[in-house]
Amino acid sequence: MPKKLTPIEALTRVYRLHDDYMDSFSFACRRFCSECCTTAMTLTSLEGRLIADFLDQQKKEDFFRRMRDHILTPRYQPSLTTNGYAWLCIQGRTPPEEILPEAPGSCLLLENDLCSIYPVRPFGCRCMVSTSACSRYGSAKIDELTFTVNTVFLQIIEHLDQSGFFGSLTDVMLRIESDSRQSETGCITAANRPAPQLMVPPEHREKIQPLLNTLNHILSRVTRE
Ligand code: SF4
Ligand code: SF4
Repeated sequence: MPKKLTPIEALTRVYRLHDDYMDSFSFACRRFCSECCTTAMTLTSLEGRLIADFLDQQKKEDFFRRMRDHILTPRYQPSLTTNGYAWLCIQGRTPPEEILPEAPGSCLLLENDLCSIYPVRPFGCRCMVSTSACSRYGSAKIDELTFTVNTVFLQIIEHLDQSGFFGSLTDVMLRIESDSRQSETGCITAANRPAPQLMVPPEHREKIQPLLNTLNHILSRVTRE
């Protein structure tokens, strides 16, 4: 019988699966290219716990101090998760308009144009890729199939963490640190939800079926903590 996985172990397998899949494509993303490392980045609480586990005690204290110092920094604070968005679409309802900061600042984990937690960076960073340099065209360029694949992975990661929450780096990490409810921290997070169905257009289903099979296999091995 295959070994059971904790949600964190399953998350790292999901990351590895995505890394392997993306390796077969060519992107313009390079070391020291960090325009996409901003306060618009989001993550789930499960991913936040993986980051907290990765940091040694000294770094963890510095990191949380920096988060607290930046509690007023403008950042993206989504009201809806990816699966929340999927639920609304299935019900034929219009999702609320999300407000992005006009000029998001740099991610607090960026040091000298490199990610200081690269091995455990959240999926929101892993899926930020572009086929042409963002600096050249002012935004990322991504094909529809990659967009579908990334959306599916976002849904699965949220599904893995369905009793958790979602938000900006500062909001998620400070809420994890205080181990409290949202109302007690002043942080704004959205409640995660199970995936109602995966948002895969019919024309992509066959192409990504092997990935879906592997993701289902990983999910079937997860034990709830
Ligand atoms: S997504 Fe854009 S800014 Fe980010 S690494 Fe790739 S090319 Fe650079
Ligand atoms: S966590 Fe790392 S990869 Fe993600 S936005 Fe911050 S610095 Fe960039």
